[in-house]
Amino acid sequence: MSVRAEFDAWAAEGRDKGMEERHWHTAKHALARMPVEAGETVLDLGCGSGYAARALREAKDAGRAYGLDGAPEMVRNARAYTDDPQVSYVVGDFQSLPFETNSVDHVFSMEAFYYASDPVGALEELRRVLRPGGTFYCAVNYFEENVHSHEWQENISIDMTRWSYEQYREAFREAGFYVAEQDTIPDRETEIPAAEAFPIDGWETREAMVERYREYGTLLTVGVAP
Ligand code: SAH
Repeated sequence: MSVRAEFDAWAAEGRDKGMEERHWHTAKHALARMPVEAGETVLDLGCGSGYAARALREAKDAGRAYGLDGAPEMVRNARAYTDDPQVSYVVGDFQSLPFETNSVDHVFSMEAFYYASDPVGALEELRRVLRPGGTFYCAVNYFEENVHSHEWQENISIDMTRWSYEQYREAFREAGFYVAEQDTIPDRETEIPAAEAFPIDGWETREAMVERYREYGTLLTVGVAP
């Protein structure tokens, strides 16, 4: 199945908002760290419901905020959640971004980058559109060290790239980024029931659930364009 077919179906079922709710727990911390200055142009790669572009406008006074997604139904939903004329949602693919060279100040992405058909090529494409000193804040919950995420590939027909912390840093460097920082952001908001409640749907033990959310959380890798 294509990105378009898979995620158009998700959008039609309203799963864009479900993802926003779950991802916001850690995405908001990554967004808060972005060095966006008033008036700058920002891009959210694989925007889903489009919350990041709206947040960067509201909290950081970004001048232009774009969300890009390969699924037209996601883009359609995202557009319906705002009437801010400085926020735009566009259909496009990570491998070929519809932006001029050096035209974007900062890029954010949450739980989307690993769907790229050629992840290093996608990073090179980001390098092209970012201005010198621009940053890429790449947040993922699906990564090698997070053993609890490994089975997610079974539920989706698109190939997911499962890199380790180190592979992320290496790939960023291979694509010409400096790696400014790498960190895991714990999710302290997802409710974890008391030990007696386990097993519950998807979780054998409380320890496993604590490890997934409070310890691994979201992996953030930050690249800076030279
Ligand atoms: N960032 C949002 C959505 C995550 S779901 C959130 O945090 O909730 C991943 C999104 O990336 C989907 O909407 C999917 O359509 C999009 N996507 C996946 N691969 C893509 C690609 N190669 N090009 C463009 N968009 C892609």
